[in-house]
Amino acid sequence: MGITKRLLEEQEALGFKSGDHSLICASHFQDYALKGFISRVGKLGTCDYCSDSEVQVVEFDQVMEVIMDGIRCHYGTPEDESVPYNSEFGYWSKTYDTEDLIKDVIGVQADDAIIEKVIKAIGSDSSWCLQNPEYPRQSEFMSADWKAFCKILKHQVRYVFISIQRGSRMNIVKLILRQFWIR
Ligand SMILES: [Zn+2]
Repeated sequence: MGITKRLLEEQEALGFKSGDHSLICASHFQDYALKGFISRVGKLGTCDYCSDSEVQVVEFDQVMEVIMDGIRCHYGTPEDESVPYNSEFGYWSKTYDTEDLIKDVIGVQADDAIIEKVIKAIGSDSSWCLQNPEYPRQSEFMSADWKAFCKILKHQVRYVFISIQRGSRMNIVKLILRQFWIR
């Protein structure tokens, strides 16, 4: 298998079809992570988008790989995530088209023309949803933990920490965790 074909297959597995080797500099992105990526791995060259020369540039596909890696950390297609589908009501979980995902949900910050290129490379008719959409998010776990902690503090400990020995250096949070949480 040729290198080009293997590369295209890898890109397809990530969720985009591009084959775009044009060179782009960081000035077309406002997103700090993408700017950082270009300044970290870019090579000196001429940007095909603004014609600036002797600037750090990467291939457009390299940026796409970073964007898709980021998307794939949190989102998948409804098919990948086995989201049930009903012909009357559609998917049983919230889904986004690529434009919504890139512009509103993730909020990739770049020149408008670049955003449109990104959407086109991914495919404007693709659908996306959260990974494991029925599974609680980390923020939901943290919120539930915080509520449980407040409940213990109010109703079980009642803000009275008489069991703390004078001069004890034990942190109050650790004490509560030891008594009520960690079995
Ligand atoms: Zn440029």
